[in-house]
Amino acid sequence: MIRALIKKVGFLFGKAQPTTAKIGQPIVIPRSQHGISRKEISENALKVLYRLNKHGYEAYLVGGSVRDLLLGLHPKDFDVVTNAKPEEVRRVFRNCRLIGRRFRLAHVYFGHDIIEVATFRGKTDAPSEDISHSEQGMILRDNVYGTIAEDVWRRDFTINALYYNIADFSIVDYVGGFADLKAKRMRMIGDVKQRYREDPVRILRAVRFAAKANIELSKELTQPIAELKELLHHISSARLFEEVMKMFHSGVASRIYQELKTNGLLAELFPITDDSIKKNVHPMDALLGIVFQSTDNRIRAEKPVTPSFIVAALLWYPIVERTTALMEKGIPFIPARMQATEELLSQQAKRISIPKRITLGAREIWQLQMRLEKRHGKRAQQLISEQRFRAAYDFLEMRAQIGEDVNDLYEWWRAYIDGDAAIRKELLKKVNQPTGRRKRRKRKPAPT
Ligand code: ATP
Ligand code: MG
Repeated sequence: MIRALIKKVGFLFGKAQPTTAKIGQPIVIPRSQHGISRKEISENALKVLYRLNKHGYEAYLVGGSVRDLLLGLHPKDFDVVTNAKPEEVRRVFRNCRLIGRRFRLAHVYFGHDIIEVATFRGKTDAPSEDISHSEQGMILRDNVYGTIAEDVWRRDFTINALYYNIADFSIVDYVGGFADLKAKRMRMIGDVKQRYREDPVRILRAVRFAAKANIELSKELTQPIAELKELLHHISSARLFEEVMKMFHSGVASRIYQELKTNGLLAELFPITDDSIKKNVHPMDALLGIVFQSTDNRIRAEKPVTPSFIVAALLWYPIVERTTALMEKGIPFIPARMQATEELLSQQAKRISIPKRITLGAREIWQLQMRLEKRHGKRAQQLISEQRFRAAYDFLEMRAQIGEDVNDLYEWWRAYIDGDAAIRKELLKKVNQPTGRRKRRKRKPAPT
């Protein structure tokens, strides 16, 4: 066992490192030398940690929460890890449920808040019933329990492998993650290619965490992406959706978007969008640029963001283009637009399964782009009270900003929204006057 671990050290850290002591001997950063204060940890997570500790178990905060606290960010979820087996965790907490097949986990409930408690994973080289791999080397199930010193090697990046020990408030670091975070360095634990192969989602995680921690992705992490990115096809479309949502909501979506393009990952996740960007007939790239910028601004201001809005942007020009192509075949505008929408949404669903409530919202935003043009009579007032009006109006603003020929329409709506009753009346006069074309058509006698 020891020999196997020592052998591993060779590839783990190559020549450049190590910031750690010998394997199995972590660096322990005492409370006085790291900035984490218990005030920043959620009350419920603390309750879980203390209670496990009181019952004689080891208990640590681990992963994203420790990383984010050290970065001075405010983590949303706090993952707890312990040497108590899931069944033992359940015995300690009444408000607890065991979940998961791939990883068996305990969920401790506090009203709507859930604290996830995992048991240390072990590492076995021998094939076992409790670890199974797919043909591509992907880990499918993994339920061997172990110690903290074993658990650490299953984690992805060194900056995600820091343990905050509730027993003495120190940080336990087996892999040099603390120094890496300080030096703005991101390293995979183990061989990059092998770890990407085991779980290709780690490719996307690399991009997300680097952006979040404001770390430049190293060549070591990006170089194998070109060869391995196709493995993302083996990931369930539901898991990809989850990961994509985390990217959109990270507060650094703009930066992630740039990285996804640079590394050819956008083509894996949103192939239709990527094609549109590459063809460059429409300002797809500019639209996404401002959509992600505004998404990030909203997240930072703690305002809600609408995934439907982002989906609407990702497929907007492909739908416009497909509609035109169908119209050239003689299909009238409305059915052509409907057919284009169906085709492209179902094509996209092959890669990422976007829940219906989100595609429904995107459909409404697309439809409203047409309906916003028809403002006469009572229509403007009706439109304004529609649930998706604001999203559709914001979308129209972005289209105007990137140079689509909708600026007059946008300005009209802007004036209407801001205007009092008198201004609105004036604005309506402009659109209520029948156009020359309509007049002529009305008066034209029926053809004989
Ligand atoms: P965030 O919660 O901000 O998305 P996180 O790092 O907490 O980031 P989680 O998915 O919550 O990410 O996972 C918690 C921890 O579990 C990670 O920090 C990492 O140590 C480990 N982990 C999660 N997913 C993987 C994976 N696919 N491969 C290896 N380790 C993982
Ligand atoms: Mg987490």
